[in-house]
Amino acid sequence: MPIYEYQCLGCGHNFEYLLRPTSPAPACPACQGAALEQQISLAATSSDGQRHANLMGAHKRAAAGRGEKQRAAHTESHHHFED
Ligand SMILES: [Zn+2]
Repeated sequence: MPIYEYQCLGCGHNFEYLLRPTSPAPACPACQGAALEQQISLAATSSDGQRHANLMGAHKRAAAGRGEKQRAAHTESHHHFED
C-alpha cells in the first residue's frame, strides 16, 4: 500500500499517511487542516539512482530541520488546546 508524505500548509507539520482504498482524505494530525502539500513518495521508484539518492539526502536533511521546530510547535499547540 502506498505511503504518502504530506506537509501541512497551515502549520508546517510533516507526516506520513498510509492511503488505503477506504481511507478518508488525509488531514493534518496536528491542526486537522486539509491544506496539504504532498511530498516525494517514499515508495517512489527511480531509474536514476544517483538523482534519487540526492533527493533522499536533501529530503532527510530538510525533514530533520523541520522536525525540531515541529516538536516545539506541537507541544505548544497541545498546551493551547488543553488549556
Ligand atoms: Zn497542520
